[in-house]
Amino acid sequence: MYDVTSMKAEEFICHEEILESLKYADENKDNIPLIDSIIEKAKLRRGLNHREASVLLACDKPEKIKEIYDLAEQIKKDFYGNRIVMFAPLYLSNYCVNGCVYCPYHAKNRHIPRKKLTMEEVKKEVTALQDMGHKRLAIEAGEDPVNNPIDYILECIDTIYNIKHKNGAIRRVNVNIAATTVENYRKLKEAGIGTYILFQETYHKESYEKLHPTGPKHDYAYHTEAMDRAMEGGIDDVGLGVLFGLELYRYEYCALLMHAEHLEAVHGVGPHTISVPRIKHADDIDPSAFDNSISDEIFCKIAALIRVAVPYTGMIISTRESEEVRKEIIRLGVSQISGGSRTSVGGYCEDERPHDTEQFDVSDQRTLDEVVNWLMREGYIPSFCTACYREGRTGDRFMSLCKSGQILNCCHPNALMTLKEYLMDYAGDDTRAIGEALIEAELKKIPNERVKDICSSNLAKIEQGIRDFRF
Ligand code: SAM
Repeated sequence: MYDVTSMKAEEFICHEEILESLKYADENKDNIPLIDSIIEKAKLRRGLNHREASVLLACDKPEKIKEIYDLAEQIKKDFYGNRIVMFAPLYLSNYCVNGCVYCPYHAKNRHIPRKKLTMEEVKKEVTALQDMGHKRLAIEAGEDPVNNPIDYILECIDTIYNIKHKNGAIRRVNVNIAATTVENYRKLKEAGIGTYILFQETYHKESYEKLHPTGPKHDYAYHTEAMDRAMEGGIDDVGLGVLFGLELYRYEYCALLMHAEHLEAVHGVGPHTISVPRIKHADDIDPSAFDNSISDEIFCKIAALIRVAVPYTGMIISTRESEEVRKEIIRLGVSQISGGSRTSVGGYCEDERPHDTEQFDVSDQRTLDEVVNWLMREGYIPSFCTACYREGRTGDRFMSLCKSGQILNCCHPNALMTLKEYLMDYAGDDTRAIGEALIEAELKKIPNERVKDICSSNLAKIEQGIRDFRF
């Protein structure tokens, strides 16, 4: 039976409730008065529930889709302005005991080299990432209690935070590792992580079990209940995600919102981010073997409807997607993107992009500087800000910042100051020229005069070599 506050996976992600919601959505997909009333509700910017949002996803009337896209774009502007937060993934180890059929790191893959970074190698990778200009990482590892135990992950986090090289620093480490225990989540919290990210892959239990035939990840309930354990362990910021292509997208979208509603109902705070990966080619993985792949058009519609349904939740898009798709989906609601990514273990230290241990093919292969330059030409401010969690603005405190409309007096100057650091330390000449002009224009948009003055004086100090200012 469906119960949003239940702690049992099959009750808060209730299969019958999803099927009924999809049926309701099908029955109402041409019901214009209902669709209009849902869009009106969405305009209040307090979100939609899974049933309402599923009706909008089912609707295929071009004029209504246009209205939804316009609203998504407007909500994105209101909550996130024109800032795009930058990050990079760091692959620590591809040892894995699971049998995920879509992932080349699956245990039965005997011909990919298995690699795990030593602390010396972590330092080299992070130094290379700092030299690109990154300040925020998402660490990634396969699940292997012997090769990648929690102590290894903690040691890597500690190493990463302590690397001081030139003006570089990694100021926020997000963690994407397999579902674990409350005790281990507590250790991650104590290690100072930002967001704990875990993709559900699919919410459809039967498919989930088939797609994860062996290894600890086979346990649907343990995986689905991970975010509750993470929050019990003190982690406020959790990141959800679905691997699109595995199951029917309308099922996944509905369940994803039910998961968000569950976290909000039980812990008083929804997910910090939602990621929208799609299956990509990789070593022995052929995406065409998965028959639920979605078109770029549907992909964009999902993104727009995530933006509309959960306005306070950041949305992440990786380099799995091409420049073209990224451009469209950023407009519709994405707030965070990776740039200059390498998805192989030890990949950042190589001159040429290595393919042997890659987790998936990277579509957007531009350098970080090219991505930063492109974003600015598109009218965005690439932000390397990590202030919120360092100022304790996590979980519901971050949400209140969003809700109080103080983002322009806080996130906006932080974005400008961290962009300035990037321009001074890492940018190419062209990027620097565009960036300086952008900062000058954007500074004027800070409403609070005192904040504007402080920001302006900090920008001057950054020119003199001082780093790490924040509101
Ligand atoms: N091993 C961890 C776990 O069990 O959750 C997470 C780390 S894994 C390195 C990161 C994510 O990459 C997975 O959760 C999955 O969604 C995604 N992934 C795996 N294979 C992929 C593929 N072929 N194409 C695109 N994404 C893939």
